[in-house]
Amino acid sequence: MDIEYLKRQAADAAARAIELRRELHKWPEPGNEEFRTVDIIKRALEDTGLQVRHLLPTGMVCTISGDKISEENQNEKAEGMKNIALRADIDGLPIQEKPKLPFSSKISGYMHACGHDVHTAVLLGTAMVLSNNKHLLNRCVKLLFQPAEETMGGAERMIAAGCLRNPEIHSVYGLHIKPELMAGQVGIKYGCVHAASDMFRIYIKGLGSHGASPEEGVDALLTGCNIVNHLQTAISRSIKATDPAVLTVGSFHSGTAGNVIAGEAILEGTVRSLEKNVSDAIRQRMEDIVKHTALAAGAEGRIEFTKGYPELVNDDTVNNRIVKLAEDLIGKENLIRINSTSMRVEDFSYYLHNTEGAFFFLGSGFPYRENPPIHSDNLYINEKCIETGILMMSALCLYE
Ligand SMILES: [Zn+2]
Ligand SMILES: [Zn+2]
Repeated sequence: MDIEYLKRQAADAAARAIELRRELHKWPEPGNEEFRTVDIIKRALEDTGLQVRHLLPTGMVCTISGDKISEENQNEKAEGMKNIALRADIDGLPIQEKPKLPFSSKISGYMHACGHDVHTAVLLGTAMVLSNNKHLLNRCVKLLFQPAEETMGGAERMIAAGCLRNPEIHSVYGLHIKPELMAGQVGIKYGCVHAASDMFRIYIKGLGSHGASPEEGVDALLTGCNIVNHLQTAISRSIKATDPAVLTVGSFHSGTAGNVIAGEAILEGTVRSLEKNVSDAIRQRMEDIVKHTALAAGAEGRIEFTKGYPELVNDDTVNNRIVKLAEDLIGKENLIRINSTSMRVEDFSYYLHNTEGAFFFLGSGFPYRENPPIHSDNLYINEKCIETGILMMSALCLYE
């Protein structure tokens, strides 16, 4: 397919996709409650002549089959071309937006501060390009509109609901905005892109007493403070310096009054690591620290872990394909190799634990101005990135 033709198609679709992104931006919604967002997506796809299928109350797939593919052989690779899924996450964040824009969030305390409005708009623009060019499409493409990336791992439930089956998906692609890169650029990371997470909650049971008579009680608050301190050694003294890991205690609740010894404390936090054996070792150290620090104070301590998202590891072969296409479409100078692994998490990792695929970054920054990071209440997107996103996603589907 002629590259110039595809670029024109992407530019045309981007004009409409930017309007849709602004509409989505006005209505950021919490995970699993993206009902208005779903309506906007459905209407946009219907305008393009496409239908969606609900897999979850706010999770949908839209299947686009190339003209060369009959209903019967949807499950097979059409003439050697793999069935592809493209994923957009659609949820917003509980953040009050600062920039005053004509399309600023209309939902108080919520904002598309992670760019999921952009990811959704890119997919809607890609749907327009693919729908206009079904005669050139030699595979089956599924667009996944997934809820609750930020909170409850919508990806895992989309997979459980069958988003990678009927027709079977052979490769899955996802992208994420990156304000540190400029619009027009694409970032790629080989190997591990994002960490795995564990959440933990620590319960400390002491004994309440008068604030003037600590000897009559067991101070759960002080025990909690000691545990927070000792947890700082769980990584620094037990894990090799070359194995990246992070431990953060992010909340601490204890006590009811200034003149009372607190009888209980509850602490919450997260652990990030890149490998299971590292996360297992940290977990063991944490259990020991909590139990024994509490015991030394005469209190009881216990820790509960909840498994978070797994680590996100890109497939080299799929990455090579993205690199090759990006070099042809946007030029070598605009393809940025990312070397460091992020300790953040991303539930796209679930797809990659089920099928081959890759996750890449879409520059969304402006030259000559400050570009606040994702999850900032000041996030401000250079919408030119939407055209680049559509171009990349469409090419991944239309090219061999
Ligand atoms: Zn986010
Ligand atoms: Zn995100």
